[in-house]
Amino acid sequence: MLIHLECTRCGEHYPADRPQTVCSKDGGVLYARYDLPAIKKAFSPGRLAGRAPTMWRYDAVLPAADPVSLGEGFTPMLPSREFPNVYIKDEGLNPTGSFKARGLSACVTMAKYFGLKKLAIPSAGNAAGALAAYSAAAGLEAHIFMPKDVPQANRIECDYYGAHVNLIDGLISDCAKKVAELKAGESWSKDGWFDVSTTKEPYRVEGKKTMGYEVAEQLGWRLPQGIIYPTGGGVGLLGMWKAFEEMEALGWISPGKPGSERPKMITVQSAGCAPVVKAWEEGKPSAEMWTNAATLASGLRVPKPYGDYLILDILKKSHGTAVSATDDEILEATRHWARTEGIFAAPEGAACLVAYRKLRASGFFKPEDTVVLFNTGNGLKYLDVLDASVARAPSPATTAANPAVRHIGGIIGPY
Ligand SMILES: [Zn+2]
Repeated sequence: MLIHLECTRCGEHYPADRPQTVCSKDGGVLYARYDLPAIKKAFSPGRLAGRAPTMWRYDAVLPAADPVSLGEGFTPMLPSREFPNVYIKDEGLNPTGSFKARGLSACVTMAKYFGLKKLAIPSAGNAAGALAAYSAAAGLEAHIFMPKDVPQANRIECDYYGAHVNLIDGLISDCAKKVAELKAGESWSKDGWFDVSTTKEPYRVEGKKTMGYEVAEQLGWRLPQGIIYPTGGGVGLLGMWKAFEEMEALGWISPGKPGSERPKMITVQSAGCAPVVKAWEEGKPSAEMWTNAATLASGLRVPKPYGDYLILDILKKSHGTAVSATDDEILEATRHWARTEGIFAAPEGAACLVAYRKLRASGFFKPEDTVVLFNTGNGLKYLDVLDASVARAPSPATTAANPAVRHIGGIIGPY
């Protein structure tokens, strides 16, 4: 049912029967386009019942290739214990502990289908782990280019999955430069190399769009009023918006019917690297390269997302907004979620809580609005980062109310 790929800038069509990167005319991101009227006739949400709880349950709207799957997707939609009408979509329960599993499952599936051999990725960390795992499952080579200060878990998992790991002294943008250098070399096409960078190939978006289908299905085919999404490369935001568009064309949701209005899409970024927030506030259609990007939320350390023009367009069309959170706010929220929700989130995910609080305080969201917050990863992948930040945090002053030690049932406990 996949008919062609379409440039999101100029609308040019490209055949979907071979590997494609970006539009050769203007560098635009390519989207997979399906024969939606035919799918509408052949498939309906009722047929999802009894299907495996993975993202491949939506294979009617995914490319027809034998999936390289580790059980990704269909993650829990947990009602917040703190805020009524708020849900936490816990993507930390995916294989490799992050939402990156979805995009890379789809991407590696297609790479295998096309007979590619060596997959290169510049990554802030979690995408590297996911590419390494899915490449191992597919019997393909993963070549990882990531900043040398990524969370330890990302480096170690890639090594264990048997990937070729290149640690770069710089940011993800510097890693992307390394991949570009490699691309210019002779062996690139000869040896079956392929660049699976965010939005520079069409299928990671397809994997991530399943989050949009899931949000709808798990809320009983009603869309929430808002979705807060930590935005580095922004693929999930693009993917979910694409899913809502497809669901309307398929008649799975009906515009005008209560519960079918598109959600306000909210980007949250770290104050230490907030190119989309800055562009949004300045009313610009694309972002500028953020200089001296620094944040403990490594997944948000993306100085300029390639799909920035699409992200900003979606924020505008959806009447959404963009919010930033400082590292201190993010750390506090990570701890708060762990204590109040029982969810040990990735710092990027916890940034959603900071954004939600700010948007409630400003009146942007009302208590009765249904809002979905995306926890994009598992806190267990950030142990070194979180541990170091605890050590850095100033210890609270010792006072009578806050003693250095406290007696608990006759035992002296450290405080
Ligand atoms: Zn184009």
